[in-house]
Amino acid sequence: MSVLVYVENADGKFKKSTFEVVSYAKEVANQLGTSLTALSIGNVDDASLAELGKYGAQKVLFVNNDKLKSFVNQAYASIVAQAAKAEGSKIVVLAASFSGKGLAPRIAVKLEAGLVDGAVELPELGGGKFIVKKTAFSGKAFAHVELTSDVKIISLVPNSFKVVERAESPAIEAFSASTAENDFSIMIKDIVRASDKISLPDAELVVSAGRGLKGPENWGMIEELANLLGAATACSKPVSDAGWRPHSEHVGQTGIAISPNLYIAIGISGAIQHLAGVSSSKVIVVINKDPEAPFFKVADYGIVGDAFEVVPKIIEAVKKL
Ligand code: FAD
Repeated sequence: MSVLVYVENADGKFKKSTFEVVSYAKEVANQLGTSLTALSIGNVDDASLAELGKYGAQKVLFVNNDKLKSFVNQAYASIVAQAAKAEGSKIVVLAASFSGKGLAPRIAVKLEAGLVDGAVELPELGGGKFIVKKTAFSGKAFAHVELTSDVKIISLVPNSFKVVERAESPAIEAFSASTAENDFSIMIKDIVRASDKISLPDAELVVSAGRGLKGPENWGMIEELANLLGAATACSKPVSDAGWRPHSEHVGQTGIAISPNLYIAIGISGAIQHLAGVSSSKVIVVINKDPEAPFFKVADYGIVGDAFEVVPKIIEAVKKL
């Protein structure tokens, strides 16, 4: 019985969140004294598949098929379930990414499995129990969920587990999976990326701004700071609603939930709905001219000041580093 980890790729390349999820799954396999099998779907080259050994995969199954090049929810879920059955895997791990959030419940139904969606730590296994800590209430709380089902699915929040390098030399095997015509009833025809900037859910550093910036014409300094730091940019909901920034940058309860190592919030009040998506950031820096802004209550570092004075000074200081 191995642990099965579904390894997501973007345009044929594995992302950092994939290596996190493999590292996590390897640790789960170690806890259970079993081996780790990775499953890749879509066109990924052999060198990238072999690289999964560096993070602990002892066996790599791949399904390369042009029809599966882009993510197809139903078909992918069916293939992961088939692989889990073929490998006799009682634990399936995947990322709580956009596609992972769609896949996990479908896989759970197919395998009649219990699901912990949004795990942030390794399972606790004392006393024959299997308990996983996960985010709850849009990131405002944590829940410790006991999985009592025979088969268990865990989706891992990106940036919640460190990549651990190991040295396995995995066996790489084609996996023959069957798919039905209606697995392809909804398909992504094409993905047009809005930009080639750092993807927000994967970003370790995020510079975010809100209505305090007054208008879209003032985002130059936010972009500049983000570029200097190698950070992604984000924004509050009213900013994207007003069309100042694209909706893909909106973080919070109704936007993307992120947990970067550093979140810099500039001219954002810190409403509960905003915090719901960012409060699991490791370090939060708040820049706001109102000392009473609620965001300061959850900040690790705060600067009370006018963003139009403070941000250019930070940019100058970073340039000198
Ligand atoms: P404001 O609340 O207007 O705050 C602007 C801040 O900028 C203030 O704190 C002000 O002191 C500061 N400021 C002004 N000028 C300057 C300056 N020159 N320098 C420095 N600071 C300055 N919001 C989200 O962000 N994400 C969500 O997912 C989300 N989901 C929601 C879901 C629901 C159901 C509802 C009801 C609301 C949701 N909201 C969400 C909206 C949320 O309640 C807030 O209205 C929103 O987060 C406020 O955005 P803001 O902080 O940019 O703007």
